[in-house]
Amino acid sequence: MTATTTSDPGPSSPGPLGPGSLDLVALRHTVTSGASADLGWRRAHLGALRRLLVEHEAELLDAVAADVGKPRLEARLTESYVIVEEIDHLLAHLEEWTAPRPVSLPLTLRPARAHVQLQPKGVVLVVAPWNYPLQLLLTPAAGALAAGNTVVLKPSEHAPRFAALVEQLVPQYFPADVAKVVTGGVEETTALLERRFDHIFFTGSGRVGRIVMRAAAEHLTPVTLELGGKSPTFVDDSVDLGVAARRIVWGKFTNAGQTCVAPDHVLVTRAARDRLLAELAAAVHEFFGDDPRRSPDLGRIVDGRQHARLVELLDGAGGSVVTGGQHDAGERYIAPTVLADVDPGAPIMQEEIFGPILPVITVADHQQAIEQITSREHPLALYVFSEREDVRDAFARRTTSGGMAFGATVIQFGAPQLPVGGVGASGTGAYHGRASLEELSHHRSVLDKPLGPDTLRVLYPPFEGLKGRVVAAATAPGWAGRPAALVREGMAKVRGLVRRG
Ligand code: NAD
Repeated sequence: MTATTTSDPGPSSPGPLGPGSLDLVALRHTVTSGASADLGWRRAHLGALRRLLVEHEAELLDAVAADVGKPRLEARLTESYVIVEEIDHLLAHLEEWTAPRPVSLPLTLRPARAHVQLQPKGVVLVVAPWNYPLQLLLTPAAGALAAGNTVVLKPSEHAPRFAALVEQLVPQYFPADVAKVVTGGVEETTALLERRFDHIFFTGSGRVGRIVMRAAAEHLTPVTLELGGKSPTFVDDSVDLGVAARRIVWGKFTNAGQTCVAPDHVLVTRAARDRLLAELAAAVHEFFGDDPRRSPDLGRIVDGRQHARLVELLDGAGGSVVTGGQHDAGERYIAPTVLADVDPGAPIMQEEIFGPILPVITVADHQQAIEQITSREHPLALYVFSEREDVRDAFARRTTSGGMAFGATVIQFGAPQLPVGGVGASGTGAYHGRASLEELSHHRSVLDKPLGPDTLRVLYPPFEGLKGRVVAAATAPGWAGRPAALVREGMAKVRGLVRRG
């Protein structure tokens, strides 16, 4: 951490307002001064974040609703409520989780004490996407503050009203040497990424994730990458298909499918196919009525570009429409759509859908589903609806994914006790609750050995005579298996040396 005491070695400022002029020195000094190591400091700033959210919840949700087109109650449930829960969870456990963790040392290093100390990393950059603009900006920020870091927050340019509001609110709750907001798009983020941060927390696409990781490599800055991908859902006929369908439809069509952990597509066994399709259509009707366009509970697509991309995926999917299929660019509306028998080679089965279109693919059995899943990149989430132990066990052992849920979709994201993160192409690192503290702290090993007696003498050269033989014997491979007599003799001689030392 000593490097952080010097001034920021990032590139010189491109201008008075650009991110290049961002004063990272003051933000870093808060950490190197030791102020943020204090639990009182962390509690105070977590409290400030909580107050910001509670006192301005209505404006924040209005901004999110206007930018992303999501219903306000849905925004509360999936954004502000999640962050307040997260902050309360962090506050309740802060002391326990940040306490030094004593470790026991091998006999050869004693007498000595040791512990692992979680310490702040420094200045954390949080780069957020547009789909949950509030939650995905402030949940990582809560973790960073709990870990004693200062933060630079970069909201998405695709949620402009929210970004402007957060830029206005943050300085009212945080001093400039604790939290700052930088708004803007690709140009501003590119300039930010040229600066040296102590950790970068990025949520977004794999394409931009690669850009972030390359930029971080320049400064050897650690990164958390929360990315996306095609999260599959498996269903067989051992479950109540009505309940399974409702849980899939809810997870898929919340925020109009623009959720990183939404079920991307369903793999259903032949035996369950027809009944599941009927139940999915029934659940869509139950949730959104005869004309989903008029439902106050259905969100919209964020912008025209995303809408056009989704319509193209829909048009090129092949197969048949079970329910939905209607769209309207003017309203950025796409009906909750379920497709059957889509072409496995179609673009909709190659890229992350990230919209309200659910392809259902028929498989012979769970083995075929697992083969399909393991032939692709590791997904962010995997959902399994089966009561059969052998099937559940096969998914648990043979697949990997950021997270997995049996009998549910998406809700694993809402439990602060469960780490959230991807694996491979779906991301690296994890956060929420304790995982945030672990991820955004440096784990420093601290050893404290008294100077007397000098038991380390056995390690000092010259290694001649008995001392050399003892050290060689004690460190030889298979030492533990040697005749007990040799061990006893060696240890007795080491003890003699120590006593004399
Ligand atoms: P995105 O990758 O396009 O943008 C994310 C952020 O990166 C934005 O703040 C943007 O300003 C910045 N950015 C964009 N282009 C850049 C560039 N060339 N250089 C530097 N910065 C750049 O993602 P998005 O469209 O906002 O969000 C959708 C994606 O995010 C989906 O893939 C989704 O699965 C993923 N996602 C993941 C999670 C998760 O928790 N794992 C959560 C939400 C979304």
